[in-house]
Amino acid sequence: KGESTLSITVVGASGDLAKKKIFPALFALYYEGCLPQDFSVFGYARTKLTHDELREMISGTLTCRIDQRENCVDKMDQFLKRCFYHSGQYNSEEDFAELNTKLKEKEAGKLSNRLYYLSIPPNIFVDVVRCASLRASSVSGWTRIIVEKPFGRDSESSGELTRCLKQYLTEEQIFRIDHYLGKELVENLSVLRFSNLVFEPLWSRNYIRNVQLIFSEDFGTEGRGGYFDQYGIIRDIMQNHLLQILALFAMETPVSLDAEDIRSEKVKVLRSMKPLLLENVIVGQYKEHSKGGKAYPGYTDDPTVPNHSLTPTFAAAAMFINNARWDGVPFLMKAGKALHTRGAEIRVQFRHVPGNLYKKNFATDLDKTTNELVIRVQPDEGIYLRINNKVPGLGMRLDRSDLNLLYRSRYPREIPDAYERLLLDAIEGERRLFIRSDELDAAWDLFTPALKELEQKKIIPELYPYGSRGPVGAHYLASKYNVRWGDLEDA
Ligand code: NAP
Repeated sequence: KGESTLSITVVGASGDLAKKKIFPALFALYYEGCLPQDFSVFGYARTKLTHDELREMISGTLTCRIDQRENCVDKMDQFLKRCFYHSGQYNSEEDFAELNTKLKEKEAGKLSNRLYYLSIPPNIFVDVVRCASLRASSVSGWTRIIVEKPFGRDSESSGELTRCLKQYLTEEQIFRIDHYLGKELVENLSVLRFSNLVFEPLWSRNYIRNVQLIFSEDFGTEGRGGYFDQYGIIRDIMQNHLLQILALFAMETPVSLDAEDIRSEKVKVLRSMKPLLLENVIVGQYKEHSKGGKAYPGYTDDPTVPNHSLTPTFAAAAMFINNARWDGVPFLMKAGKALHTRGAEIRVQFRHVPGNLYKKNFATDLDKTTNELVIRVQPDEGIYLRINNKVPGLGMRLDRSDLNLLYRSRYPREIPDAYERLLLDAIEGERRLFIRSDELDAAWDLFTPALKELEQKKIIPELYPYGSRGPVGAHYLASKYNVRWGDLEDA
């Protein structure tokens, strides 16, 4: 560590993601002592800024885990002193050569490692990778590039992007981020399953009736629909975040916790799945709604969205894994914007107890008596297991109760942001939480046919009011497979 330096360049430093997530995550790593002794952070974008203007811009979003700590302000100052800015075009090799000169000044002849974070729109990924790799790679240490979705719109465009990136980079240099994989509760999925005897034996079609992966936002595109409209909710949330969780959830036991062993098991799950069928997906779009005297705009009221857009802001899908463990078990996904609540959850519904002795003692219908394991990824992280329990008293009445692990009470320390873990892993060369290119290909193969059909047939999304529970079609889809959606607020 002592004799090497690390240079981190945030490309697109003037943007939203950089300001809100990347710089704060880098500061948090610095604050926690996770960055090497000798490091510098460069911002790169077209906007003309001085070093101090960049520092001013990012200083507002840096926070300390425990704000009251006295050294917090000092730490921020020390961090900001290591932040610099270089303005340039994204397709100019000369501008990247200038950046290289500045990086070399800071690196002062030591062994240098370089990390680039591409916080820019996807149409300029390849330009930046070309310029950075040709003109601003490290000659003595490693050079790695972190890219964030979207990785194309379908199998072809994603394959094309991978081919272009690989003209300049090896697979080992590419770190494809799916920030859901950096979330604490998603990381904990494998721990929960593989290190608890009470769960692992149940993890199959023998005991599990269905698995639900639910994502919900309680706001719409709010004037920033330009990017979203080209992708839609299936590409934005399902094909990546929810499918990644599904693969982690359903994979066989990996040989070890090494990145390649885990990623290989995930690819196996994805390749065992049938591509999504159009009959197993329903799409929706939010419409304007007035509530409590306030009017909430519809999706197409967003000035950045075309008036007649058919882009889904909601989708529900049923998918299946054709292997011995999961044959016939529906994996249901649901994702939507402008719904009544926000959150992300994994819900595992277990089968009925055969010949339940206590059938008569339930007040509710039997369907509500199955055990359910809920992993709440966000917000208010937690894990709870719904069990049937005797209501205390002289009679014999049963109800459903929760064994509840609420993170905020059990682990009061603030949970690190997903970007912190992912940046640290990229610096340390740990690839477990990044998407390998064969994983990406397999993921697109599952969704591309249905996405194309939706677009070619111009399927009209079912409208649902802003702030509602989404279109009723999602319930029909679930009931086709004998499933009742768990409710995010049903905690
Ligand atoms: P952004 O603010 O729109 O763009 C980042 C920077 O890229 C801008 O400050 C701008 O810098 C440059 N830029 C923007 N449009 C450009 C164009 N058409 N051509 C060339 N340069 C352009 O984006 P962001 O919200 O920070 O997100 C960055 C990337 O991460 C995007 O690709 C997005 O899809 C992805 N992402 C974002 C989020 C999020 O929460 N925001 C979440 C997941 C993924 P200059 O004009 O100064 O060069």
